[in-house]
Amino acid sequence: MPDGLGPPFAEPLFNRIALIGIGLIGSSIARICRRKGLAREIVAADSSAKVREEAAALALAGRIVATPAEAAEGSDLVILCVPVGAIGRAAQEVAPHLLPGAILSDVGSVKTAIIKAVAPHVPAAADFVPAHPVAGTEQSGPCAGFASLFHNRWCILTPPAGANPKAIARLSSFWKGAGANVEIMDASHHDLVLAITSHLPHLIAYNIVGTAADLEQVTQSEVIKFSAGGFRDFTRIAASDPVMWRDIFLNNRDAVLETLGRFNEDLIALQRMIRNGDGKSLFDLFTRTRAIRRGIIEQGQETAAPDFGRRTSEE
Ligand code: NAP
Repeated sequence: MPDGLGPPFAEPLFNRIALIGIGLIGSSIARICRRKGLAREIVAADSSAKVREEAAALALAGRIVATPAEAAEGSDLVILCVPVGAIGRAAQEVAPHLLPGAILSDVGSVKTAIIKAVAPHVPAAADFVPAHPVAGTEQSGPCAGFASLFHNRWCILTPPAGANPKAIARLSSFWKGAGANVEIMDASHHDLVLAITSHLPHLIAYNIVGTAADLEQVTQSEVIKFSAGGFRDFTRIAASDPVMWRDIFLNNRDAVLETLGRFNEDLIALQRMIRNGDGKSLFDLFTRTRAIRRGIIEQGQETAAPDFGRRTSEE
């Protein structure tokens, strides 16, 4: 049965792609590369022996090695798919092994801090083009990945000033080949947009689930037993990888604090509406927010089907 991902490329876009970190995102890239023939050869590196074993059992790459340096050797595209806090170190390790003309990229969820950590290591003969595929799930590891993860999702490229336009175009083609829509954005703007659309919602989910778990008058078993509607949706987001999200908040501090300040002000306004019995303001706000969800559905980023938390893929 057709999977909707289209036919493979007649000619691969890259000769050898190195994926540093073969977890959820790295393994999804490996799967779509293989499915679409985006690269002649795939080499993966992961610091975890258990992850390397899992990736080998899934035949995700032609070679699976322990160090970023080994994987980068001879590759014309190197993508860093490790947690944000580990990306600078991984860049330092691959840098001396990059081929002249190679593209170094990443998939980190934060961009300004990553550019600051990676750019100083990039040799003059290679091109650094940072990227963020806005697609994922609350799961981690190579078994959680799938080839259609990026299909019809956005991939945001944040090339630093003076980046090579040919390298940007090649990486755009790669992500389009993986099924994504590509947008180019300034790194600090990316961080602000993602702070409100992704980072703040995760912070709220972590907070509300934490609060519910700590409530003394309501037992843990009651929280789980009656987790209908809203709370269950929050628990899905709050189950996201702790390392990944710790690193995101530590590395997008300013934008997150800025949006959190705005959020707190709006929350106080809501509190006042409830206290004052201001039903009209509550109704007007909820009507506006409903229209936002309709807009997301109309743009194909979500379906209108009722979601009881059973789907497997979502950012
Ligand atoms: P993941 O499933 O946990 O995979 C990351 C892998 O990298 C793990 O196997 C980890 O091994 C390995 N690793 C860590 N440090 C390493 C190093 N120095 N060298 C080689 N391997 C190393 O995480 P993920 O969800 O794929 O996330 C990877 C990146 O994608 C992050 O930067 C994240 O911000 C970004 N991203 C994630 C999502 C999402 O929804 N998950 C969406 C878009 C972008 P250990 O387990 O031993 O540490």
